[in-house]
Amino acid sequence: MHCPFCRHPDSRVVDSRTSDDGSSIRRRRECPNCGKRFSTLEIASLTVLKRSGVAEPFSREKVVNGVRKACQGRPVSDDDLAHLAHKVEEAIRASGQAEIDATDIGLAILPPLRELDEIAYLRFASVYQGFDSLDDFESAIARLRAEDASDS
Ligand SMILES: [Zn+2]
Repeated sequence: MHCPFCRHPDSRVVDSRTSDDGSSIRRRRECPNCGKRFSTLEIASLTVLKRSGVAEPFSREKVVNGVRKACQGRPVSDDDLAHLAHKVEEAIRASGQAEIDATDIGLAILPPLRELDEIAYLRFASVYQGFDSLDDFESAIARLRAEDASDS
């Protein structure tokens, strides 16, 4: 990691701090050439394998874009969507895998989306799970109702 001030190719770590949830490490570094200090943030990378076989880094923005359409006309704000993407990332990181299938992201989106808005959830599930008849909607709604009843 080179110094952002003088581009010296080396730096010395003066302090390391792990975040409370253990998902990242912040390091304070000092450049031995110019003496200036800077911080680096270390986060484990998450790779998404698409159905085409292409691998790309996990992106919260893509999660938001994927869900936004299902939320059209619903009382869901950009903040809600950002929060949902954060939850999805947490769920995926909690699984402990460094590589995940794109379809698993869809699975991870369903629970927090359901909490957010049931209509958006049904829309998203209908596309993601490939509903092709009213029966599919009916059984999904029946499941929601049954689970709502058991929650209360
Ligand atoms: Zn420097």
